[in-house]
Amino acid sequence: MKHLPVKTNKSTTLNAGRRTVLRVALAQMAFAGAALAFGKTVVAGESMKKFTKSKVEWLKIITPAQYDVLFEEATERSFSSPLNEEKRKGTFVCAACNQPLFKSDTKYDSGTGWPSFFQHLPDAIGTKTDFKLLYPRTEYHCSNCGGHQGHVFGDGPAPTRKRYCNNGLALSFIPDGQPLPAIRKS
Ligand SMILES: [Zn+2]
Repeated sequence: MKHLPVKTNKSTTLNAGRRTVLRVALAQMAFAGAALAFGKTVVAGESMKKFTKSKVEWLKIITPAQYDVLFEEATERSFSSPLNEEKRKGTFVCAACNQPLFKSDTKYDSGTGWPSFFQHLPDAIGTKTDFKLLYPRTEYHCSNCGGHQGHVFGDGPAPTRKRYCNNGLALSFIPDGQPLPAIRKS
């Protein structure tokens, strides 16, 4: 890769540098504008959720910290969830509605400090693109209640190469041998 000359006594070099800076700035502004125009999220594909509840109703079932993650798309601090270290066999269900989302045999240690999986259960999640960090990321959520779970990235292990990076607060773990809780429908 060619580097720009560092000499500063030539106005042409400086102008070229300024033009490059301006071009990058304009591109960034256009991108930010696009993100603003789309709003916080762009819905792609699957329907978002099957029922809605008010915040007051949810707070009878989940904690305020869980509500922030599940319904305000907050992200918990890395290494803060005990589920990050959960290694037993079982099922990870949505903390809000109990829909099973992941099995323990698809969990792996990604080193990120968030519970990570390479595959979700069939039909368990929906996705949409968010621009919260001004670049697109794929957010995923429970397909039943719409509760935000995390983001999916393309750097996971075989066979899917996907990394579902999940907030532990958005999940409950049910060890094998214990009955799964009833899935909320309303
Ligand atoms: Zn749910």
